[in-house]
Amino acid sequence: MSEVLLRRPIPYPDESLRGYLIRLAQVNHTSPRKLYKLSSLFAGVDPKSLIMTTGKADLSKLCILTNLDEQRLLDLTFFNQLGKYAHEEVEVLRHISSFGTCSMAFCQVCPLCLLEQPYHRKLWEIRSVTTCPIHHCRLISQCPECQRFISPIRRFVTYCKCMFDYRKCKITKVPEFETKLAIILNEKLFNKKGLRTLLSDEIQGLSFRHFLYLHILFCYYFYQISTSKVKVHYSEVFKPIHLHETAIETFHMFTDWPNSFYNFVNRYRKVPKNFKGMGKWMNSVCYFIKLLSI
Ligand SMILES: [Zn+2]
Ligand SMILES: [Zn+2]
Repeated sequence: MSEVLLRRPIPYPDESLRGYLIRLAQVNHTSPRKLYKLSSLFAGVDPKSLIMTTGKADLSKLCILTNLDEQRLLDLTFFNQLGKYAHEEVEVLRHISSFGTCSMAFCQVCPLCLLEQPYHRKLWEIRSVTTCPIHHCRLISQCPECQRFISPIRRFVTYCKCMFDYRKCKITKVPEFETKLAIILNEKLFNKKGLRTLLSDEIQGLSFRHFLYLHILFCYYFYQISTSKVKVHYSEVFKPIHLHETAIETFHMFTDWPNSFYNFVNRYRKVPKNFKGMGKWMNSVCYFIKLLSI
């Protein structure tokens, strides 16, 4: 039977659940893997992702260990914004799960945020967020010392397995425009108001999940056009190595809506017929836009 852990730090309101488990393990002198095991949060041999894009994991044991109620823990996941709608919008959520959120293989951090407060922000779990809206710099997903991807079940929030301190990473500053996508996703995620006025009413009114989904669909198109590749798999578009450029270019589409969309349709007409998969892709876009009546 599970018992309450001796030390139970209070989660930050904008912390991610898997990041919280790293902190929880650290203060209790154990490993995140052991905590996942104690909480029955394993799927086969691997820990569950806990992002909760397509459903809800059973957190009952973790509730006992932390003495926190389920809703408090769910707030650290994407259940309320995404997983809750999995039955009604299967395709939308499956797409976001595959390409919109970080996987068990990697996650990303802002070295300057970690320097201010060492905890893992929920916003960083969104794959197309490639910059920090506070520090105007790029997020990092790989250790500059050993090149390992940053693990969502690492032993310490701020250290790599090789003991490199992520807070000492070289900072890559970005122009203000490149932080706008992160700011808007942050506002939609935490129901804040601010920069949304940058967007037209139609886009402004989109929920977090619908905005994210539409952005993912267009990322595919812009990547395919920019690389002139006839056949592209979706997973290639969302590789951290070039996602930043694609995500930012795609974001332009939303700042001048609907003119940008009309321009896009005109350009799309000229796309060579041999661009395989584009027809199917266009159908998804049209279907979705009709669904939202924008
Ligand atoms: Zn930051
Ligand atoms: Zn390393």
